[in-house]
Amino acid sequence: MNKKEKSMKKNDIKELTKKDLIEWLENNDIKPYRAGQIFKWLYMKQANSFEEMTDISKKIHIILSDNFTNDRLEIEEKEISNDGTTKYLFKLNDNYYSECVLIPGEDRNTLCISTQVGCAQGCKFCLTSKGGIIRNLRCGEILSQIRDVQFDLTDQKITNLVFMGMGEPFANSQSVLDAISAITDTDHGMKFSPRKVTVSTCGLVPEMIDFGKKSNVNLAVSLNATDNKTRDFLMPINRKYPIEVLFDALKKYPLAPRKRITIEYILIKGINDSNEDAMRLIKLMKKIKGKLNLIPFNEHPKSQFRRPDNDTIEKFLAHFHKNSVIATIRKSMGQDISAACGQLDANKRKLSEY
Ligand code: SF4
Repeated sequence: MNKKEKSMKKNDIKELTKKDLIEWLENNDIKPYRAGQIFKWLYMKQANSFEEMTDISKKIHIILSDNFTNDRLEIEEKEISNDGTTKYLFKLNDNYYSECVLIPGEDRNTLCISTQVGCAQGCKFCLTSKGGIIRNLRCGEILSQIRDVQFDLTDQKITNLVFMGMGEPFANSQSVLDAISAITDTDHGMKFSPRKVTVSTCGLVPEMIDFGKKSNVNLAVSLNATDNKTRDFLMPINRKYPIEVLFDALKKYPLAPRKRITIEYILIKGINDSNEDAMRLIKLMKKIKGKLNLIPFNEHPKSQFRRPDNDTIEKFLAHFHKNSVIATIRKSMGQDISAACGQLDANKRKLSEY
């Protein structure tokens, strides 16, 4: 058995939550407080090997190395845009890929991460949906995206995280929750405040409600239409959980004081950008404690959809300001690289039009 085969037989230590690791250590006669030390080395100090964990004995290094790996993901491709947006394509152990995008802002660096290889949700405007679902990312693979991008950044720090890359997070809820426990662990983990972490869903209602009971990170919902006919067409999940069911659930969603649900709305020319759409969207927004994020469609030659012109976008936005609904337009970033969700992976998998 060669080194790679041997390492594939072992589990990535990052698959374990701190609670799992404590249990494993106890079962192996190692003091449970070591879990905190190991977590610090993994998530705060970016250790590349168990041997680097200098406050842990050699004997424990050997036990850990015999049972776990602590590998980094291989960067298959990296594209850097003129505006600093950086896209990473990571090669996984089974030769599939995960993608993430670092989006620099004035006062923040936001990393958009993936939760699945492919996606089963079939949204019409999304290239990831073209190849269907291949598999869920494991907790360790989700965490590795953050750890490995941070390792690659020499003079910048990731400040915000959004689960908006490839895949539907609530179709992989347990791994997402496990990853979030290490991300927001302020004692030994990545130390992100829950206010800096956002999970975005296409609207898997029961899983979303369940998630709201278990996590206090921010919620974003990808809406993209104001009537069921259009949303059925754009997002098949709407046939199962139509707009009224989704908004009933959002009304009851547990929210900490001062928090709002972000409603994401991709503006697509001639599909959802009319004055009537704006009026219906205002009514929906008034039902919940939310804020609206308008995202002009990121055009791509392979897509059947187009971005509305700037005038239409400005007029659409003005309706919300006039009606006291918090609304912003997301600035397009990384237009000179394959920055749309799933583009690099799609290029690898040779997916065609969407
Ligand atoms: S937009 Fe999100 S939920 Fe919809 S198909 Fe793409 S990755 Fe899946």
